[in-house]
Amino acid sequence: MTATVIDGKAFAAKVRGLVGEQVAMLKADHGITPGLSVVLVGDDPASQVYVKSKGKMTVEVGMKSVEHRMDADVSETDLLAMVQSLNVDPTIHGILVQLPLPEHLNSDLVINSIDPAKDVDGFHISNVGLLGTGQKAMVPCTPLGSLMMLRDQLGSLSGLNAVIIGRSNIVGKPMAQLLLGDSCTVTIAHSRTKDLADVVRRADIVVAAVGRAQMVPGDWIKPGATVIDVGINRIDKPEGGTRLVGDVDYDSCAAVAGAITPVPGGVGPMTIACLLANTVTACCRANNLAEPE
Ligand code: NDP
Repeated sequence: MTATVIDGKAFAAKVRGLVGEQVAMLKADHGITPGLSVVLVGDDPASQVYVKSKGKMTVEVGMKSVEHRMDADVSETDLLAMVQSLNVDPTIHGILVQLPLPEHLNSDLVINSIDPAKDVDGFHISNVGLLGTGQKAMVPCTPLGSLMMLRDQLGSLSGLNAVIIGRSNIVGKPMAQLLLGDSCTVTIAHSRTKDLADVVRRADIVVAAVGRAQMVPGDWIKPGATVIDVGINRIDKPEGGTRLVGDVDYDSCAAVAGAITPVPGGVGPMTIACLLANTVTACCRANNLAEPE
């Protein structure tokens, strides 16, 4: 069997197209421009790349994009004051504080200082609680994008066995909540899981969010399973230079799976598309307008 390749790049372009139409409608019908503000602390190169690409796509769909850069040694007080100023800014509907933050800053405190209604990353404790109890929440972008691809590929997910490898607050745990919400039987595996290969072999859906290059081999995959590879890892190429790979060994998994997301071009583009979609949702909610489906 050769797996269907789930084209996250094309899917994300479609989502961004819809977001662009919604933004145009908000402007034309209500005179409102959704605004997304990203706060970047320090000069981590990967974070800079993400923030730049988020800003570019925000503008492309017609939204207002504001970037705030703060020095790596910024005080917690100053960062909290920045978040507070965005909380009360009526032209800003989405706030994202780029993680990871430098060690001297308390990430939980900073994230929980964001107005939950503007928390387009969905990391605020209120949104985590809302999602966990099946209420209307801001849903974290990477798991949301992964869920959209799974639904598109499989239709109903009800009753399927889903195994998520990784239990982080930003990917693994919210992914589990979303799949539970779609009536999957969910297992969350992590570094202490015994017999991981056997656990993964039972899965109709595998979501790998580990951060270890090519860790999952094809012989862990049940024939026909759907594999969502969240991992982004940079490895050396034999001929020199580097390349990006996921957490699954793509070639051996694609030979067994029914469908698989590539890296790059799978989950990554969907994450940014969902961030833009969440910003439109936040804008609609803030203005008591019907929110997009
Ligand atoms: P974290 O480091 O926060 O979590 C990794 C998880 O993997 C932990 O729960 C850890 O277990 C588990 N783990 C580590 N080693 C093993 C192992 N040998 N076997 C089983 N489980 C293991 O990572 P994130 O969730 O933040 O990110 C995961 C990956 O996804 C990274 O590659 C990251 O770059 C990528 N990512 C991609 C995004 C995208 O847009 N495509 C967005 C966000 C992340 P334990 O808890 O026991 O330590």
